[in-house]
Amino acid sequence: MALGLGIDPPEATCDDENCPFHGTLSVRGATVDGVVASTNMHRSAIVEREYDVAVPKYDRHMKRRSRVPAHAPECLDIEEGRTVRIAETRPLSKTKSHVVVTTLETTRQLASDQVTEPATDASEAATGDVSENAATERGPGESGPETAGENA
Ligand SMILES: [Zn+2]
Repeated sequence: MALGLGIDPPEATCDDENCPFHGTLSVRGATVDGVVASTNMHRSAIVEREYDVAVPKYDRHMKRRSRVPAHAPECLDIEEGRTVRIAETRPLSKTKSHVVVTTLETTRQLASDQVTEPATDASEAATGDVSENAATERGPGESGPETAGENA
């Protein structure tokens, strides 16, 4: 199923009715990135995230922590400590109204960004050389008509 979140379906399959990829579950609303804090419950995960809240009185920030219970389809490789993205869905149980849609590898994404930056610089340098060559080729071509105009 297409989720509309730009997420590719996992390679593994499952027969979970509440799987957004292999079941009939639809997602809508907010998506949240967090770290899996617990996988002790069956087909459920506790996703925790830490964020800073401004305290104007002391001009400081304080840490707040929220824990969101989310449904964990078995086709996704979800372990404690992994960064995952959860999407809002209909209420699945008393506490669950989110489902894990993908695992995120933050370190790999950062590494790929660092690799692409030098690659773009090299391509820009290559195009610069090409434009310089084109300019030198144009030089005599443009001077031809100009001299012709002066003669006329
Ligand atoms: Zn599935």
